[in-house]
Amino acid sequence: MAVRGRFDLHTHSTVSDGTEASAEVVRQAAAAGLAGLALTDHDSTAGWADASEAARRAGIDLLPGVELSTRLGWRSVHVLGYLVDPADPALAAETERIRVSRRDRARRIVEAIAADYPITWDDVLAQTSAGATVGRPHIADALVALGIESDRSAAFAGVLHPRRGYVEPHHAPLPADGVRLIRGAGGVPVLAHPGATRADWVIPEEDVAALVDAGLFGIEADHPENTRDGGVRAHGLAARFGLPVTGSSDYHGSGKPNRLGARTTAPEVVDRILEQATGSAPILA
Ligand code: AMP
Ligand code: FE
Ligand code: FE
Ligand code: ZN
Repeated sequence: MAVRGRFDLHTHSTVSDGTEASAEVVRQAAAAGLAGLALTDHDSTAGWADASEAARRAGIDLLPGVELSTRLGWRSVHVLGYLVDPADPALAAETERIRVSRRDRARRIVEAIAADYPITWDDVLAQTSAGATVGRPHIADALVALGIESDRSAAFAGVLHPRRGYVEPHHAPLPADGVRLIRGAGGVPVLAHPGATRADWVIPEEDVAALVDAGLFGIEADHPENTRDGGVRAHGLAARFGLPVTGSSDYHGSGKPNRLGARTTAPEVVDRILEQATGSAPILA
């Protein structure tokens, strides 16, 4: 296996909090001149079938994936899993549990906001595709539709900011357990965007060591939301543990400014992912 060209290994569709259907994300990636992409919706593989068909038609490589929501204390830690077996019982059960907990949590957040602003759960459902992994972005979209906030980013900085007191956490496994779940499902785990948050919000180095012990493959050190120091820190982590670096856009359609291909992954690293994955097959053009 030897792939060539530019690969964007982190994108979202309406199956989670992206604004375009998974097939449309694939078509946009092909139109952007990428050789390949990974579809990595939060805690769901429901977009894989449509994305795969679109990839075959568009003649672009696709690595089906997932972005697993994990948590270490109060820190939210995302772990990308490439080419997992979507039917793996342990992974399927855990992602289902996270999605159910996310929905319950979103309802509670909306109830809390409704004490101060005119918003209902139906307003949020109106912004959410059937079966989608519900998150704060959908509540943000409802706040925008109601004229309470001007756009998603304003909503995250406003009503949905933790200091406003409405937001609460959902169920999430420990990051090391997330890495083991992904490996157990034949997938290849990569620590998502560790450079995209303030230094004191990032998973500490000794905890990354535990992820490496659990089977972590790589670090998503190239990310458009990296802070000034965050990118350097993330590359330092990869060097410290001798892990491959990935790059990606974390595309959310119009839900974030991140553009497809804003950061990309070297084909040599994609080859190593393809070599290690046993959970499902990529679509190769
Ligand atoms: P949640 O997992 O429900 O707490 O929501 C967090 C998700 O919201 C992240 O995975 C991002 O995809 C998205 N997000 C975070 N900050 C922003 C922002 N400022 N604008 C748009 N989307 C954001
Ligand atoms: Fe997201
Ligand atoms: Fe993420
Ligand atoms: Zn993401």
